[in-house]
Amino acid sequence: MGKKGPKVVKKGKKKRKPKKSSERWKKYKIDGGKAQPTAKFCPRCGPGIFLAESKNRWFCGRCHYTEFKSREQKEEKTEEKK
Ligand SMILES: [Zn+2]
Repeated sequence: MGKKGPKVVKKGKKKRKPKKSSERWKKYKIDGGKAQPTAKFCPRCGPGIFLAESKNRWFCGRCHYTEFKSREQKEEKTEEKK
């Protein structure tokens, strides 16, 4: 009985693209030594997850949260004076 070796098909190595982990800081605008975030955070994922800015909306690539931009939030502020 001839023992056959296990069938192992070796595929070529796949090239993996390095993750761009340093893109996060680009969303900070360094102003006077202080890093100020220029993008919005995702309200679902919490701070740290930025929303991608689109033409007229914000979009989270993680939880697919979408927030539409409104020209101006017309909220009638009724200041209640105590
Ligand atoms: Zn999210």
